[in-house]
Amino acid sequence: MLVSPLFDAGLAGVFGLLLGSFFNVVIHRLPLMLERQWAAECAELQGKEAEPGPVLTLNKPRSRCPKCGHLIRWYENVPVFSYLALRGKCSACAAPIGLRYPAVELATGALFFYCAWRWGITPPAAAWAGFGSAVLVLALIDWDTTLLPDDITLPLVWAGLIAAALRWSDVTLPQALWGAVAGYVSLWLVYKGFKLLTGKEGMGYGDFKLFAALGAWFGWQALVPIILMASVIGAIVGIAMKLSTGLREGGYVPFGPFLAGAGLTAMVFGPAAILETIGL
Ligand SMILES: [Zn+2]
Repeated sequence: MLVSPLFDAGLAGVFGLLLGSFFNVVIHRLPLMLERQWAAECAELQGKEAEPGPVLTLNKPRSRCPKCGHLIRWYENVPVFSYLALRGKCSACAAPIGLRYPAVELATGALFFYCAWRWGITPPAAAWAGFGSAVLVLALIDWDTTLLPDDITLPLVWAGLIAAALRWSDVTLPQALWGAVAGYVSLWLVYKGFKLLTGKEGMGYGDFKLFAALGAWFGWQALVPIILMASVIGAIVGIAMKLSTGLREGGYVPFGPFLAGAGLTAMVFGPAAILETIGL
């Protein structure tokens, strides 16, 4: 505690808002950066020169309006407030700015507020804020692109094991380790079985790694509650999408966002409460 629990949590929340602004960039650019890297690798395998495009990293180039190319100034990039001040429109061409941007900022702010409120300004609070951030970013990237980048899932597995070893999470290191192993192997088996039966691929390798990460953070005991929770969320969203006109092209819905949702639920309520809610 620095000053008072509420002040600390408020401070953490503001930090989360700013970080959320950065996460918007990660969600948008990381898949593009990976695509470019793969294109370059493919070109190299075929013995061709990769076409050098303009520089694209997480901090270069500066953000522009996708419609008119207007360079976004710092005061147009203040989390949430700028969106409200601009009334959700580009200041140059009045093209609407996606509600996604302030929503991600608010969600990250709320996550950091929650973690600091629950754990104080402590290493566990930082660990869980990091977990929640990674899971949020993964969910949105998977939703947009059906990719779960290794650059996030694999460090998340390691972080879960380290958090357990340091007692920052609520599981022992063996529980975390077996959670990671069982998480990966169980979804891999489901994937293989599904492929044998139907000849289709029901999910991707990223899902195994994300489930392994959840196993590392919550222990092997939490895997069944988490997968049940993810399936329930997935079924609800799937039905809602069938009923609305928002059915995706090709009808493929990634599983990662539901795993992520279950992970966040487990963080807030604990894996045991999930089982109770579902009625088991
Ligand atoms: Zn514009």
